[in-house]
Amino acid sequence: MADISSGKLDVSIKPQDEPLPYRLREHFLSTPEIALYQTLLEMSEGRYIICPKVALNDIFLIVRPNENVHYFNKIFRKHVDFLLCQPRTFKPEIGVELVKPIAKNETRSSDQFMEDLFLTAGLPLVHIPSGEHYEIADVVTLFQLAVTKAKQGAHTAQLSQDSVPACPICGKMMVLRTYRSGPQNGQLYYGCIDNPKCPGMVAIKNG
Ligand SMILES: [Zn+2]
Repeated sequence: MADISSGKLDVSIKPQDEPLPYRLREHFLSTPEIALYQTLLEMSEGRYIICPKVALNDIFLIVRPNENVHYFNKIFRKHVDFLLCQPRTFKPEIGVELVKPIAKNETRSSDQFMEDLFLTAGLPLVHIPSGEHYEIADVVTLFQLAVTKAKQGAHTAQLSQDSVPACPICGKMMVLRTYRSGPQNGQLYYGCIDNPKCPGMVAIKNG
């Protein structure tokens, strides 16, 4: 808040006759986002409040912020396309991201980060291929997959809470990640928090 009682004015403010350099954006949400919102609304039948464009910084907090400034930068100014919350408490339940359909061998490190972030915090994240129209049945299937995966992640984290390994290469902390391809596609492993700089990883034994 400006302190008007002091009589000092912020010299950086432009004179009154010059308008501020802001305009309303033409679109708040894109056409695929609006279409997905309508589908989510229909699907949730009042079980969730659907918030569009929620800042990651409003969903997650950073442990030991003084040591982890770098991790603040990683979530700063980023958002998730939709956050589904409990209607009474606004407790976050599920994140939804629209993704461009990608070629097979292509990888997107920002998506990998989002996935690691949600998995670490135990919040399901659903990726939905962007389009003009969405089938409720398809969206429901993607939701179920994401919820199952988040539960697995939480279960594994619980089991190994006292035994999260240190990176065998650089000694830093490790986080739960998911194989994105190959014979173990979809399974969890520990990856170095410094990935992709450090390739350190540790397999998780089943059972
Ligand atoms: Zn490492």
